[in-house]
Amino acid sequence: MPTNFCRPRWFATSLLAALFICCNSPAAENVTVVIDAGHGGHDRGGIPGQRIAEKVMTLDVAQRLKNVLEASGYHVVMTRDNDVFVPLGTRVAIANSYRNAIFVCVHFNATNRMGASGIETYFYSRDSLPLASAIHHFVVGGAPSANRGVRRRGYYVLRKTNIPAVLVECGFLTNPTEGAYAQTASYRQKLAEEIAAGVRGRNSVTGTLSTTRVATSETVPLQPYIDQTKVSASEHRKSKRSHKKSARKKKSSSKSTGSEARYASTDPEA
Ligand SMILES: [Zn+2]
Repeated sequence: MPTNFCRPRWFATSLLAALFICCNSPAAENVTVVIDAGHGGHDRGGIPGQRIAEKVMTLDVAQRLKNVLEASGYHVVMTRDNDVFVPLGTRVAIANSYRNAIFVCVHFNATNRMGASGIETYFYSRDSLPLASAIHHFVVGGAPSANRGVRRRGYYVLRKTNIPAVLVECGFLTNPTEGAYAQTASYRQKLAEEIAAGVRGRNSVTGTLSTTRVATSETVPLQPYIDQTKVSASEHRKSKRSHKKSARKKKSSSKSTGSEARYASTDPEA
């Protein structure tokens, strides 16, 4: 057979192979990542008197995360892309409007005890544990902060979303060391890249729990987690009591229109 008859077949085979590789890359996963930058507008985040505004840090990391994920081919949606207040119910509605999507909430922690430090990653539905495991694995691996573990807790944005949802607390802004890190662009970029690595690696989480962080380059261990679902209920009651007046005004809407700050940006164990 003349070679000029073979070439088109070779090109066709190569094209099919390229398409196969392309279709199995994250770019063609057709997954939407809904990124939720915590707080915003009048909701500064953190605790009263906090020097570093949490809402600024979360937005910056979220925007960097968007850039990293888009470069990997993901479709990205932001619940907020500037300094505005977005009610929790709206954030959840945005997330739930996408099929084949995952939801990543970016927060920083705060507490009155300056020594408290470290990274925490929260999830609620069991389907979200692999994503939480992968994000926590990479963020803890890339940050110089302590590992405070993966935690299961009923935060509104995690309970009400129908898609895998994770809330990552990227360190304590009230801790002098972690606060200083957070204020550097290179560190926020690093956080974004590690969260993105977790998004990309969520399907490589192994099925068995591991107490060590030992993993091959291709697998991520499913993380053990602390169940704080009961803590959430008591914290919520406490919060409702201390905000009795505003709760009375807002009636039942306080839960979905309020800030995650009272729950997510405090450190109940510190
Ligand atoms: Zn927060």
